[in-house]
Parts: sequence; C-alpha cells; structure tokens
Amino acid sequence: MSNDSSLAIYCPRCHWEPDGGAHWQCTCGCVWNTFDTGAVCPRCQRRWRDTDCPPLPGGCGATSPHIDWYHGLDAAVAELMETALAVPANVCCGRNEP
Ligand SMILES: [Zn+2]
Ligand SMILES: [Zn+2]
Repeated sequence: MSNDSSLAIYCPRCHWEPDGGAHWQCTCGCVWNTFDTGAVCPRCQRRWRDTDCPPLPGGCGATSPHIDWYHGLDAAVAELMETALAVPANVCCGRNEP
C-alpha cells in the first residue's frame, strides 16, 4: 500500500466502484467481496475470470473480465495478474477425478 496511489478498481462499463460489500455469489453458495480475494471464492477456492457489476448497490449488471476492473496498474503487474487469472483452476474441478 505504499506507491499504489494510481490504482483504482471500478467497473469498466459504468465506473461503479466496489464499496467493500459482499455482492458476489459463487456457485457453491458463498457470498463474499470478490475484490478481497482477487476473484477467488474463499469457500471452494474457485477462481472467477469474469466479475459481474452488481446492480443492487448501484452497478450496471454487466459482466466483465476481473482484470478489467483494475485501472492504473503498471503494465508488468497487469501482465502478471493476467497470467495468474489464465491459470486453469484445477483447485476447482480436479478434486473428484480418480
Ligand atoms: Zn465457491
Ligand atoms: Zn458496471
């Protein structure tokens, strides 16, 4: 939190800014603030590549790639995040395979 002053998080469509509330629900039923965890469900560890803009707190309801919500990121950091988000979420779907 030292020189991140240029970093902003808001919807790429309507510029709604997450208010810190738990507005996102996973398929497992968990409701949490997806920006606390970088779009990973804290209960089942599923990683979400896309993030909805929640209409209830004032968003537009559109779905955008999670990475697109971050603005002002250094190019290198953005690339790192994109790589991280592109990793297959084997923690989600690989558990029940023999
Ligand atoms: Zn979940
Ligand atoms: Zn929006």
